[in-house]
Amino acid sequence: MMIYAVKCPRCSKKAEAQMTAVGIKGTYCEPTAKLAASRITCGECGHVIDSSEAPTDKYELWFSSTLRGHRLWAVNESHLEWLIQWLSGDLDNSRLSLADRSYVEALPKWVLTNREDAVKSLQKMRTQG
Ligand SMILES: [Zn+2]
Repeated sequence: MMIYAVKCPRCSKKAEAQMTAVGIKGTYCEPTAKLAASRITCGECGHVIDSSEAPTDKYELWFSSTLRGHRLWAVNESHLEWLIQWLSGDLDNSRLSLADRSYVEALPKWVLTNREDAVKSLQKMRTQG
């Protein structure tokens, strides 16, 4: 099951969102599941939102910041770590999975031209985690 790190709408601390597939997005060649939150659980204040009947995309990602006017984000810890590694050049492109490769190809240009700043910004987000 896919878990996103989100901001609790009640106490603004880190909460977990259980994601569920609600359709398909992406290109014909690379269809990917479109995910929506079916349940948000906050370990800090105990707030629970059950939206399993109508999964929602109204959630705020925990790992999110702004870099040069753009939004830089990661859905959870492992995504964050992966991004830091990839942008730092620590991952071998030829060994990426198909999904990772299409993700990398879809990364906006401003991320690639500001790699160092993006890594710094992501590392800063990690310390908030
Ligand atoms: Zn909370």
